[in-house]
Amino acid sequence: MVQSQVPMVQVPMAQSPEIVVTTTVVADLVENVIGGNFNIYTLINKGVDVHDYQASAEDSSALENADIVFFLGGGVEEGLDKTLIAMEDDKKAFSLIKSIPNDKLLKTEDGIVDPHFWLDPTIIEYPVVMIRDVMTAIDPDNIDAYTRNSVDFMNRLITLDEWITERVNELDVNSKFLVTQHASFEYFANQYEFQTKSLAGISTNDEAGIAEIDDMASYLRTNRISVIFLESTVPDTQAQAVIDATQAIGWTVKNGGVLFTGSVGDGNSSTYIGMMSANVNLIVDGILNPPVQQEAPVSFLWILLGISMIAVVKRKKEGALY
Ligand SMILES: [Zn+2]
Repeated sequence: MVQSQVPMVQVPMAQSPEIVVTTTVVADLVENVIGGNFNIYTLINKGVDVHDYQASAEDSSALENADIVFFLGGGVEEGLDKTLIAMEDDKKAFSLIKSIPNDKLLKTEDGIVDPHFWLDPTIIEYPVVMIRDVMTAIDPDNIDAYTRNSVDFMNRLITLDEWITERVNELDVNSKFLVTQHASFEYFANQYEFQTKSLAGISTNDEAGIAEIDDMASYLRTNRISVIFLESTVPDTQAQAVIDATQAIGWTVKNGGVLFTGSVGDGNSSTYIGMMSANVNLIVDGILNPPVQQEAPVSFLWILLGISMIAVVKRKKEGALY
């Protein structure tokens, strides 16, 4: 019998579906459901802004050859919007935000659906069910594995939510402000009862100007907020401007560190659950450890006292007193 020259390992690989996902967060959700059986091609890598991403030639060909594409949806993948909608019509691409019931979706003041649903872990069960159903439809032989993996992952999401609730409860209600660069944490804030304020809107492409920076500075001072957060996928050029503008009106604000918004991180933060845990620790620890305030009225009084003392000494020397 003639042995085939083709190594056996290539047979299942060739039969595996080509799965393409947009972000590293979507990749982790899909991996949790499919259990690492197939290769997943991720278009928007760690640290790349999902709003700003444009497909490379290699990414475009991966999309063309894909059997299934999972994406966040809601227009957050701004550079891929048209391509993904066309693939969705062909039942090749699946928008995770469409799995979420309408009453769980948040809208901006202008009535636009906020796409950042993934930052609330209590909503992730819906995309997980969608991924499970899509995978089961194309690969019914593995229905048991997909079902079991989904249940396991959803249980871990429940544990994550319980842990977040506990950590967040360490904060005084009046200190629960979450100030970020763009409006990415509304779902998180809605679930865990934070007040939010951001420099830019729901897209990082909405640039904040000097007026927004000054408005932010007075908001921080008025509400006695002393920590602001950066985001892993957004340039931090304006954060320092906010810190300086706030200092100039007599209130000290510190940079609380970098939150993972558009993508997962490295090491312990390289999974969805890991990135959410890192975010929550950064937020809670940052708020619990505010910078030392140099209260303006007190320092002003010291300066006044200093000037009067100098004047007294000077006049004494000149013999003008008594
Ligand atoms: Zn965003």
